[in-house]
Amino acid sequence: MLAEIKGLNEECGIFGIWGHEDAARLTYYGLHSLQHRGQEGAGIVVAGGGNLSGHKGLGLVTDVFQSGTLDALCGSAAIGHVRYSTAGGGGYENVQPLLFRSQTGAMALAHNGNLTNAIELKLALEGQGSIFQTTSDTEVFAHLIRRSQAPTFVGQMKEALSQIEGAFAFLLLTETALYAALDPHGFRPLSLGRLGSAYVVASETCAFDVIGATYEREVSPGELLIISGEGVRSERFAPERPRSICSMEYIYFARPDSHVDGINVHTARKNLGKRLALEAPAEADIVTGVPDSSISVAIGYAEASGIPYELGLIKNRYVGRTFIQPSQALREQGVKMKLSPVRGVVAGKRVVMVDDSIVRGTTSRRIVAMLREAGAVEVHVRISAPPITHPCFYGIDTSSKEELIAAKHTVEDIRRLIGADSLAFLSQEGLLAAIGRPEGAPQRGQCLACFTGQYPTRISPIAQPCMTVK
Ligand code: SF4
Repeated sequence: MLAEIKGLNEECGIFGIWGHEDAARLTYYGLHSLQHRGQEGAGIVVAGGGNLSGHKGLGLVTDVFQSGTLDALCGSAAIGHVRYSTAGGGGYENVQPLLFRSQTGAMALAHNGNLTNAIELKLALEGQGSIFQTTSDTEVFAHLIRRSQAPTFVGQMKEALSQIEGAFAFLLLTETALYAALDPHGFRPLSLGRLGSAYVVASETCAFDVIGATYEREVSPGELLIISGEGVRSERFAPERPRSICSMEYIYFARPDSHVDGINVHTARKNLGKRLALEAPAEADIVTGVPDSSISVAIGYAEASGIPYELGLIKNRYVGRTFIQPSQALREQGVKMKLSPVRGVVAGKRVVMVDDSIVRGTTSRRIVAMLREAGAVEVHVRISAPPITHPCFYGIDTSSKEELIAAKHTVEDIRRLIGADSLAFLSQEGLLAAIGRPEGAPQRGQCLACFTGQYPTRISPIAQPCMTVK
């Protein structure tokens, strides 16, 4: 599925390293492997020579950093960030890490997620005299740290962490330590790894593989890690709760070679496909998946159904994002530019087309039409998730409720609107069972709020759903 044209986007990816002389370059490689999590901006801050310095810009990691830029970032610790703008909007000032300097020293901050009480806190802080440099919810956290009266920096961080609500995986860098914190529900993934004597922390484990680091463990919900010359120390800022990791990480966002909360993403997707084949069989000649995330699902569907898997759709990898505009007309054009049916494979065939979600319905309609134009005689659409009926407040841009096709249409209506011969969504139970978490305990491990409307946290009455700022 093609996120930027479908209207389903991740907000950010973060990477941090402590104790390696080539910290900036390794962070660059780490961010490069997390590029799928955000393409609007990238930045790196290093700690070295008793100071913090950084570079950031709008665009892809390879656009923002050249060899000379990285050479100038000297230090043995670094944090980096790739951004997709939802909360706070785009613009250079919102590209992270955010760097703050004060009498007591400098600190840099990188955040993945979305704070659901950011507006409330910001109003209160402004009432007390705070002035904000950015429109990002991340800056609220820095102000809370600075306003804390706790006697130690760790105490100040813990006090600030206990005031914010929603989804957050934070990396904070000072001259003396790297801090990593995950919200009490653990909405977003965050893993700890080792590279020789150095420590690394990243949104996804694929960032460890690319630099040759080994996976150690997950940062647990409500945990604050303090990484310094003395090693890793773990503290808690909130009691451990049942984890509510975002289901969309498995369904769509994370790279297939990553492990999310200890579960391999490709394997989870293949199991989604197998379960989908059991729940929603189809009489067809071939199974095809919409690249990239649904390839693994389609392989699983084919394996369980006995219908051969074929490469019926090809993604054009060299289309620049500059072509993709948020207007509906250009979004539709974007589908054609990014995806092509393989005529020789689909012509004359009954096709099962597997995809990961239907958001507005526009993309699915275009792909079904494309397959028919290429000669498919029947198109049976199978979706590896339940219908998305509610917006996300935790950092995923799922559009507003008004734009979500499943919020106001039945499955049969949607089938007709997208022009498919049949349409089926995976059940909630199927989703949990396929990923590897037990049926009947929906809140034990995964957030399902965009399918159920049951949000694991309080949502402030003035919180905004995560949406692309147009
Ligand atoms: S509401 Fe949906 S997209 Fe948002 S965190 Fe929960 S599962 Fe993920």
